[in-house]
Amino acid sequence: METNLRERIGFVEGDITKMDVDAIVNAANTSLLGGGGVDGAIHRAAGPELLAETRKIGGCPTGEARVTKGYRLPAKWVIHTVGPIWSGGNRNEDELLANCYRNSFEAAIEIGAVTVAFPSISTGAYRFPMERAINIALRETKSFLQANQSIKKVTFVCFGREVYNKYQEVFKEVFH
Ligand code: ADP
Repeated sequence: METNLRERIGFVEGDITKMDVDAIVNAANTSLLGGGGVDGAIHRAAGPELLAETRKIGGCPTGEARVTKGYRLPAKWVIHTVGPIWSGGNRNEDELLANCYRNSFEAAIEIGAVTVAFPSISTGAYRFPMERAINIALRETKSFLQANQSIKKVTFVCFGREVYNKYQEVFKEVFH
């Protein structure tokens, strides 16, 4: 069972907008109107139709997720989730980040996504400590995949070799 579980998780170094999966997850902000980092890259690659759709949605609270189409992206869907802004660790940041993963997985199930790719939510402009965030990401992914068989592959898209190495390191701890 554990072996099967490990095979359902993968890591690549690269740009999430290039991922040919059913759904990519966007580290959005509460406005859902686009921003910098991965959010900006996704909006640029998807085209203006994406912004038109997120405008209609009207926003998303921290920790929750909303689905749009992928438009010009290879991915069919975009799951927009809003990570917490790190402010020292006493503002429920860990739980809110865990909620991002849980709610993104729930959204993936609702749209019937079998393959899903995640960026490292909250670790850019929102300054969540990388190792702590990866721990949460991998723990939530592990428990979700254990409880749910419909998602066959979760890929973590690492922006840079250092981030990739960190995921590998934490993966060994969480899936020892
Ligand atoms: P947040 O506001 O949630 O911190 P950011 O987009 O600033 O979101 O950063 C989240 C993570 O996404 C960071 O680790 C950043 O390096 C990474 N990132 C930025 N652009 C891309 C991209 N095109 N594909 C994958 N990851 C990316």
